[in-house]
Amino acid sequence: MNNKRALVTGGNRGIGFAIAQGLLAQGYEVIITARSIDSASKAAEKLSEKAISLELDVSDDRSIDRAIAVLTQQIDRLDVLINNAGIYPDKQVDSLTISRELLNTAMQTNTFGVIQMVQACLPLLEKSADARIINVSSGMGALDSLTTTATSYSLSKLALNGATVMLSQSLKAKNIVINAMCPGWVRTDMGGASADRSPEQGADTAIWLATEASHSETGKFWRDRKVISF
Ligand code: NAP
Repeated sequence: MNNKRALVTGGNRGIGFAIAQGLLAQGYEVIITARSIDSASKAAEKLSEKAISLELDVSDDRSIDRAIAVLTQQIDRLDVLINNAGIYPDKQVDSLTISRELLNTAMQTNTFGVIQMVQACLPLLEKSADARIINVSSGMGALDSLTTTATSYSLSKLALNGATVMLSQSLKAKNIVINAMCPGWVRTDMGGASADRSPEQGADTAIWLATEASHSETGKFWRDRKVISF
């Protein structure tokens, strides 16, 4: 154990599961959150008896508050927050046909959920001497890759990147760093079977940002351990 603690949202499957696995392998104590406690517990059991499981829906403030209250009874410090949970709800829509409801659904989970998670975890993160937040974003949120057939997803990740910049400004005085990263195209339920990367490859840059990257790096967008354009 290296005595450091990380929380991974949506850690029950896909890239989040691989991030949790990688951090556990480096001796981190890992808290896996998922919308269903059964799913979180099953993933934790599969990974390690040291993994903690927690029910948390990032689109629901009451669920976030409940989960962090429970967590605060178990731990007094958090070193790493990985905002990985995400959805891709666009199906057969584009910017001319998408509903407000679908836009709202994507933003609530992919963008606003992240801001609320940062706020809720702040008291625990402030107790760490090396606090790091990593937002799992997407190249589809980069200005030169916005995609009309994925309007809600693209827009929510564009906004997530913007939130990362703003949060980095607000967190500087607290010595907490925050970065966004793109995992590439990854074979998960979201990415599909044809994607060119394994979940472990997709998890690599998030794990590196959480463990090895210089603590001076903040407010940037990364892929393959290199800065990319927003
Ligand atoms: P995935 O296999 O579909 O997993 C998504 C995870 O997010 C699941 O654990 C899911 O939990 C969780 N989640 C969804 N809505 C949630 C909510 N409201 N509250 C809490 N958890 C929620 O997707 P993935 O490919 O691993 O994606 C992980 C992250 O990588 C996402 O942010 C995604 O946008 C990003 N990304 C993926 C790719 C790719 O090619 N796969 C590319 C670029 C970026 P449940 O089991 O409860 O549904």
